[in-house]
Amino acid sequence: MSRCIVCGSSELFFDHHCKQCYLKNYPILKQKKDLGVFACSICELIFLKSRLTTHYIADIGKNSVNTFFLSLLRQSWDFHYRPKNLHIKEIAIDPNENGYSSMISGIVDISASPDAFVPLLTISEEFRIHIEWQECLECRNRLTGSYNSKIQIRTPKKVEIKQLEKWAEEIESLSQMHPLADGKNPLFKVDFLKSGIDALFQTYPPATSVGKIFAKKYGGIISVTTEFAGFDKSRSREYPRKPVVLITLPEFNSGDIITINNHNPIQIRSFKESKVEFWDYRDKVWKKIPLKSFLASDPKFLDREFQQFQLVNFEQDRKMAQIMNMDTFDTHYIDSKEVSDVSEGETFQGILFDGMLLRKQEKA
Ligand SMILES: [Zn+2]
Ligand SMILES: [Zn+2]
Repeated sequence: MSRCIVCGSSELFFDHHCKQCYLKNYPILKQKKDLGVFACSICELIFLKSRLTTHYIADIGKNSVNTFFLSLLRQSWDFHYRPKNLHIKEIAIDPNENGYSSMISGIVDISASPDAFVPLLTISEEFRIHIEWQECLECRNRLTGSYNSKIQIRTPKKVEIKQLEKWAEEIESLSQMHPLADGKNPLFKVDFLKSGIDALFQTYPPATSVGKIFAKKYGGIISVTTEFAGFDKSRSREYPRKPVVLITLPEFNSGDIITINNHNPIQIRSFKESKVEFWDYRDKVWKKIPLKSFLASDPKFLDREFQQFQLVNFEQDRKMAQIMNMDTFDTHYIDSKEVSDVSEGETFQGILFDGMLLRKQEKA
């Protein structure tokens, strides 16, 4: 009967060795060392010197955090041969009198095989991870109120605070869809002003993405400018300027009747995708033009109220119709196409303008 050539045990493992003696001769682990991470003293985010993570101290023990720590172990411990499996058997944050522990410790199972012919060996090792408490970049930015980019929403109209709050909510939820590398919302502050809102962002890319979506939805004109960011005293030069995403919202609402290009009456249908859709009363068609051309066409409010009219009758050839203003009893002749949906004797709302009857238009 063969026995271990080192200790004489009868439980042979491989190559005339028992498991213990084999591991002594061919250890899996060459050298282990304590690891170090940072944790934010405000939000408890775990981070490294070179990068943020998406893990928090409160999540220690969860699979995702274990996987992160195991990748750190794999990188910083020296092995004689590549471990096939690492598994955290135990992990806990060590209790500390003032609630701020500086140590995470636990036990890791390491499985490895020195050779294809050797069965997988598993050893258990204790590990320690030192925690250095420090504010993470985002919390520090929040504390100091510093930001790297902002969205300014401006409107020429008078707006209620409720409207501003609605915009702020929308910016907030759009920002959540453009998270930072650590999964957090890049937006950290919204300032309410008389003429709009300022939304302060941690970084520029989410600010511009969010700004584009918002501007598209509300028919705003977007332009990117920069603002002075201060002087770097140590190098006596300017900091890079901060990009500002400026969104100018249109003055008009859908349904408004306005004039463009010198008295050409139109009714706005929508501002969407940087285009304006409207009913052209003169050409009697729906039109869609770029927002920029619209703004260049000198849009002005039409300063008239809707009035009540009655269709008196159609002329014999039905080309013209006689209508009567119900307030003044004045009668007018208009193109009968304008009232083709009205029967003689019926009343309707409209504005008489330049010999044209302007009625509210609904797109079919
Ligand atoms: Zn032995
Ligand atoms: Zn933090």
